[in-house]
Amino acid sequence: MSDFDTFFNKAKDKAKDVADVAGKKTTELVNLSKLKLQELQIGRKIRSLYEQLGRATYQLHKNSFENEELISSLEEEIAEQLHAQSEVDEKLCDMKNQVSCPCCHAKNSKEAVYCSSCGNQLKDEFADFVEEETQEAAPADETPEEE
Ligand SMILES: [Zn+2]
Repeated sequence: MSDFDTFFNKAKDKAKDVADVAGKKTTELVNLSKLKLQELQIGRKIRSLYEQLGRATYQLHKNSFENEELISSLEEEIAEQLHAQSEVDEKLCDMKNQVSCPCCHAKNSKEAVYCSSCGNQLKDEFADFVEEETQEAAPADETPEEE
């Protein structure tokens, strides 16, 4: 009977560990899928705004009307959504340990010096070296030997 109790307790502990790890992973996954969903929704909204802008421009042009207010309000909204998109994009990249190329928006590893898609320089080739040098140049811990 006591053997069974030990086995049962061990199994219970193990199950708890697994649940803890799974819980952490689930939170990460939830955040990731939330961001992905956000990215999708923003992308959809931007497309619809472009469409609205195109349609409005077409209709206005066709009827020889001008409506700067409508056009610029759509433009403003697009700019807002693009900004939100880049923020979500940044968060997503961070979770995946990636950086987004400022030139072509291709995803690159954080360690990459050049963009794998367009060749744009992503960071200073010697950035790591300079960083190391700065650290070495930092003043050593000077503890007075005399009391
Ligand atoms: Zn690029």
